[in-house]
Amino acid sequence: MLRHIGRIILGGLVALGAYGLAAGAEGDKIKVLIVDGQNNHNWQATTPHLKKFLEESRRFVVDVATSPQRPKAPQGKQVDPDESKKYNEEMAKFRPDFAKYDVVLSNYNGDRWPERTRKELEEYVADGKGLVIIHAANNAFGDWKEYNSMIGMGWRDAKFGDRLTFDDPGREIRVERGQGPGAGHGAQHPFVVTVRNPEHPITHGMPREWMHAQDELYHGMRGPATNVTLLATAFDEKSKGGTGEHEPMIWTVTYGKGRVFHTPMGHDLTGMRCVGFITTVQRGTEWAATGKVTISVPENFPTATETRSANSK
Ligand code: ZN
Repeated sequence: MLRHIGRIILGGLVALGAYGLAAGAEGDKIKVLIVDGQNNHNWQATTPHLKKFLEESRRFVVDVATSPQRPKAPQGKQVDPDESKKYNEEMAKFRPDFAKYDVVLSNYNGDRWPERTRKELEEYVADGKGLVIIHAANNAFGDWKEYNSMIGMGWRDAKFGDRLTFDDPGREIRVERGQGPGAGHGAQHPFVVTVRNPEHPITHGMPREWMHAQDELYHGMRGPATNVTLLATAFDEKSKGGTGEHEPMIWTVTYGKGRVFHTPMGHDLTGMRCVGFITTVQRGTEWAATGKVTISVPENFPTATETRSANSK
């Protein structure tokens, strides 16, 4: 009898041990919250892709917070007022639990969040947590002052704020508000990303130049552009409808004690399947959460002349 009980206790301890180990391994992972639900891009397709490649690095566990969606008007009719009312009520309650996570990744470009939610994100980042901004997430919230400070620069017109570029010899230039182009992009095409800061943990070990898969090359990003560190640019050829200048492609922003990683790349799955994009976002998310990068640059990283895409599933 005693031996029997002993065996049960032993069995229980072994089970606990195994559970503890598994829980410990999960516990070591960085907790990411992707926010989506509204975007003029296909967030229904891109969020699962972002989640998948983050988790494949074995460095992250990822949850998703999806906002309410604005009701669409049936053809030739107006939106049902009851549905509108319901949406407004639901949106007023939209409050992701940021505090449970190490880093928030925005794949959101839509209606403004309730004031309490906006305040909570500001405090979350200022207190030392991470924020990741992908592509059209930088189109959002033009009238939210602290958001503009957090993202550094975004899809705004030329009068909105300053712009950062590099000149041909490789010096960083600040273009003042009202001078030069505002936000836009030319025709989609594959383009070369040039690393400007090879010492930064996010870009360290990347080839100096790498060919990004077909994507929109955002130009004329505007904002307060303070506490910004530019890590990489892309030359925006006039023949493609571009500015003829070196546009920021990867940057970081310090906001209070927090870290923001921002890339305007990632229009759709084609751009997002680029191994360069995947690696940049994995490393940028890790850096935003911890200030360090342990994820290595993979062997199948794009070269200066060749794009490389992860297998699509
Ligand atoms: Zn786009």
